[in-house]
Amino acid sequence: MPLIDLRSDTVTQPTVAMREAMMAAELGDDVYGEDPTVNRLEAWLANELGFAAALFVPTGTMSNLLGLMAHCERGDEYIVGQQAHTYKYEGGGAAVLGSIQPQPIDGEADGSLDLAKVEAAIKQDDFHFARTRLLALENTMQGKVLPLDYLAAARDLTRRRGLSLHLDGARLYNAAVKLGVPARAITQHFDSVSVCLSKGLGAPVGSVLCGSVALIARARRLRKMVGGGMRQAGVLAAAGLYALQHQVERLAEDHANAARLGSALTELGYSVEPVQTNMVYVQLGERAGTVKAFMAERGIAVTAAPRLRLVTHLDVEAGQVEQVVQAFTEFSRV
Ligand SMILES: *Cc1c(COP(=O)(O)O)cnc(C)c1O
Repeated sequence: MPLIDLRSDTVTQPTVAMREAMMAAELGDDVYGEDPTVNRLEAWLANELGFAAALFVPTGTMSNLLGLMAHCERGDEYIVGQQAHTYKYEGGGAAVLGSIQPQPIDGEADGSLDLAKVEAAIKQDDFHFARTRLLALENTMQGKVLPLDYLAAARDLTRRRGLSLHLDGARLYNAAVKLGVPARAITQHFDSVSVCLSKGLGAPVGSVLCGSVALIARARRLRKMVGGGMRQAGVLAAAGLYALQHQVERLAEDHANAARLGSALTELGYSVEPVQTNMVYVQLGERAGTVKAFMAERGIAVTAAPRLRLVTHLDVEAGQVEQVVQAFTEFSRV
């Protein structure tokens, strides 16, 4: 029985056509700026998202780090959600490596940060305080899509208060597909955007940071500093380009599969958070301790957490979702 891996959308394997694109990629040394495929990926995504420049990096963690460090000096501060990936799941990199102080605030149930709370957290210009320089948002945020009018309001606030605005758009395309808009409708509000190619888009490796020419020039210097300057990286960029050109629209299938899973689990009596994109959050409470082994026996990989996250992706087909529903039906009876 094939393994159905619902732990994350990072587990996808490159498709045959993607591997062919990787095989055929024209290569050069990207540290010299001479890899034509990396250059093509950067130009393509910058253009699509409405930015002047872009930078290919190994991971989303590095992409966010370079973005934050390119916006902020030592002793500056960024405002961010308590549950944001940048703040909580990146080893404190901005503080450790960038000497950038985070000012976390509690997020709202819809994945947004209350803009009144954001504004209240901006520090006055006073030498006692770190300088508040940046607001970082995440979209999708744990599978939830931030509304476009909210993004416009965040843009207005940051302009009015002299802050920059960064988007951790690891799953930008899930948000765009869900809203039925070009990704640029989201990214137009931001000064910089980090996009993961290795999540639902299905590339094996890579993220891209987009921004102004000056910002990306700073990020390029920082990328070298943190060891992210790769050489014949076009073999990886080719996978990313393929993903962007062929595997965006199909995210709607992942969303439909997640919706099906969410409604089936609700019918079984589980408490399920509203499903918007490719993530299903289920409250398992004390049963979280046994779910992992139970599912593993049925060829289904999940992580054990009281708030269980099930993620659909390229390598989970609709028929396999029915197998998962069947397994949870059995689990609910034991
Ligand atoms: C995965 C992820 C990242 C970081 O990506 P890595 O490539 O795993 O370093 C950043 N932000 C969010 C929201 C993510 O899901």
